Amino acid sequence: MALLTLTRVSKRFRTDAPPAVDRLSLALEPGRILALLGPSGCGKTTTLRLIAGFEAPEEGRITIGGRVVAEAGSIDVPPEERGVGVVFQDYALFPHLTIEANVAFGLDRRSRDERRARVADVLALVELSGFARRYPHELSGGQQQRVAVARALAPSPAVLLLDEPFSNLDADLRSQMRDEVERVLRATGTTAVFVTHDQEEAFTIADEVGVLSHGRLEQIGSPETIYHRPATPFIAAFVGAADFLPGLVTTEGIVTEIGVFGNVEGREPGEKVRVMIRPDDVTFVPDPAGEAVVVRRYFRGSENLYCLALPSGHRVHSSQPSSAAFATGLRVRPDAHVLHVVTFPAE
Ligand code: ADP
Ligand code: MG
Repeated sequence: MALLTLTRVSKRFRTDAPPAVDRLSLALEPGRILALLGPSGCGKTTTLRLIAGFEAPEEGRITIGGRVVAEAGSIDVPPEERGVGVVFQDYALFPHLTIEANVAFGLDRRSRDERRARVADVLALVELSGFARRYPHELSGGQQQRVAVARALAPSPAVLLLDEPFSNLDADLRSQMRDEVERVLRATGTTAVFVTHDQEEAFTIADEVGVLSHGRLEQIGSPETIYHRPATPFIAAFVGAADFLPGLVTTEGIVTEIGVFGNVEGREPGEKVRVMIRPDDVTFVPDPAGEAVVVRRYFRGSENLYCLALPSGHRVHSSQPSSAAFATGLRVRPDAHVLHVVTFPAE
């Protein structure tokens, strides 16, 4: 049974603006990690606040562990009775309390000994056992984040909610903390919803990714499904580099300027479509008689990304090893091997 469900949940802050969350439905099984992914302002934080109980929906229902915690107009269980833990974007540690006291904060219903034992357990879990007597300002950003995670986990919540948990960390620390937090969530079997605008972060940690746009959940699925089978052009472009080439559906397949692809979606011959092309689908070889021209190279360290102009004026990108250096202006013959053919109706 799903541990967390949202059924057509909507939240509107202003009558003259579109809803921040728009009829959002999802179900999360116990022990699973869900990433809600989307650009700034798409309703990620509002969704978390609705689940936590800091906001009430105007429409829809939320259940946690089979219990209705919010039902528009009738039920509104307060945050402290929902069994949720929250890790805020800025960690929100109490600066005047020690790490120990910060972590013990949500445990006030337990005896002193129980409290002390639980604090020691969760601090050990996040590998901060030696830091109990310090104050937040005496810790690094990554350590503060681990304290925030320990504090949220201390009362053994049914669901842990994390709002852009890694956005305040430097790039190298970010990937380390990602692994660290995932390890803690997996080790404790915690069911978690974390929101992020970073698709790589969503893909590396989550079992399921839900893509939000303008308060609506456009698609929910495994990271592989979201990347290889995006439901909309918005998702296709948001979760990775994508070019779209015009294609014509024929009985032989989908004909485009750089090749003919299988009509795996079973579209009607004669239909005009846009075919999603990812940079890893495209290779090319230098050829003076080639029809495409290298117009730009983006050196990315571990790879070279090339932009190729096709005779029609459309452009596609091609990722190549960092050792493959080609000059702009070079004539080339592109070749596409599209493993996952995804098409959208032509505009
Ligand atoms: P995200 O976390 O994805 O960046 P938010 O959930 O914070 O997005 O915001 C979604 C939309 O709701 C935005 O347009 C934002 O301006 C609006 N919004 C969020 N909180 C409030 C609020 N308390 N009052 C009015 N509008 C809000
Ligand atoms: Mg936000």
